[in-house]
Amino acid sequence: MDESRKTFLRNLPKIDEVILLLEKSGIYDWAAREIVTETCRNVVQNLRETIIEAKEKDLPKLSLDAASVVSEVEQTIKGFYRYHLVKVINATGVILHTNLGRAPLCPEALQRILEVGRGYSNLEFDLAAGERGQRYDHVSSLICALTGSEDALIVNNNAAAVLLVLNTLSEGKESIVSRGELIEIGGEFRIPEIMSKSGSILCEVGTTNRTRLADYENAISPATGLILKVHTSNFRIVGFTEEAEIIPLVALGKKHAIPVMDDLGSGCLIDLDNYGLQHEPTVRDVLSAGVDVVTFSGDKLLGGPQAGIIAGKKEILSQIKKNPLNRALRIDKFTLAALEATLMQYLRPASVTRKLRPLQALTEPVAAVKKRARKLMGKLQKANLEPLEFVLHEDFAVAGGGSLPTQKIPSVLVGIKNKKMPASRMEEKLRKIEVPIIVRVDKDEILIDLRTVAEDEFGFIVEGLRQVLSN
Ligand SMILES: *Cc1c(COP(=O)(O)O)cnc(C)c1O
Repeated sequence: MDESRKTFLRNLPKIDEVILLLEKSGIYDWAAREIVTETCRNVVQNLRETIIEAKEKDLPKLSLDAASVVSEVEQTIKGFYRYHLVKVINATGVILHTNLGRAPLCPEALQRILEVGRGYSNLEFDLAAGERGQRYDHVSSLICALTGSEDALIVNNNAAAVLLVLNTLSEGKESIVSRGELIEIGGEFRIPEIMSKSGSILCEVGTTNRTRLADYENAISPATGLILKVHTSNFRIVGFTEEAEIIPLVALGKKHAIPVMDDLGSGCLIDLDNYGLQHEPTVRDVLSAGVDVVTFSGDKLLGGPQAGIIAGKKEILSQIKKNPLNRALRIDKFTLAALEATLMQYLRPASVTRKLRPLQALTEPVAAVKKRARKLMGKLQKANLEPLEFVLHEDFAVAGGGSLPTQKIPSVLVGIKNKKMPASRMEEKLRKIEVPIIVRVDKDEILIDLRTVAEDEFGFIVEGLRQVLSN
């Protein structure tokens, strides 16, 4: 190491010295001793590493005096008092945006979380019998009523649901899957990998674009534990394609006494055809075709909290319930409370698309989106936000979250131009304000897609733009 670098290292403030300065400034009035000591250590250690790694010419630019270290420690500790998981405005037009928390909850679900979380609840207590009950019982009969299932079980998310079913029905045995359905969902969920973690052996059949019933039939052997269908959630193969229909597949399973599972991914409970959207089989459709067990998410098209729902035949569900892995994947009371309230909305089909925001966003007529876009535009024009300019655009929103992958949903957007700042810089600044606004960027404009922005969020957009212009 060169001499100048060594000198910089030697001259770094001593931790005790920094701590003394902080103590004098009264830091222990608002911060705990251990956190102060540890933060000092980390800050000084980071500086040490920076000195070692920095280019020679950058060394003199570093702030290495005790006052700078003190200020950085204070800033770091103040950061612990700020919430990091925060509300954002989703102006992207991606309705079920996995990075932005997928489905927003309905007011009833939020109300139930408060009610159940505030005090004690009968989470695992059977009030009628006065004895221990099962947490799933609060929602399983509702799920059965809404899907025609015989029984149901809820776990943490759909990935957990798939893992649990594969492990229960096919551990040490083969699961037959079409090569066209060996999918990856964002966030490292891949069918071959989850299968291997479940202890089941992947038996792939057919080709990427064509898999026939005979391919499944030829693969059946005494080692077969399961026939698995997977919804190709986030892509479509078009052109020269073929897949085995569910009804003959169910018959094949019956003939050989092998259970048939369908990982539906999104798990739609209403008929989307009625809203001019692409056909998506409902959970009821799939179960009535005779599939033994289905799995689907709580926070995709269903519009509720993150959860994985397993529904199907009673004897299969009872095997799954006995699996010790179930205990490791179980959901908490807040999820259950929110899920119950979300599912209840489906009891009134006439109002469910208004009540659940993802369904509302998917099915809202474009004329209503346009009306809201005009309203936002008017508000922005009146807000004295020079030098911004506003234009209306027609474009498309998408469902996102691995749902309805090829569906383009007509939408209306407000484009915002700033002559004094590149759009990419505006986008970045909008991400870093108190209530961040996540936008799309197109050339020299940022775009606010009104399909995912509600009227009661307009104030945040006006305020956010004001903040961005003022600093
Ligand atoms: C989304 C999805 C999953 C994973 O569901 P999570 O709820 O995100 O865990 C699994 N399988 C399919 C087919 C999916 O679409």
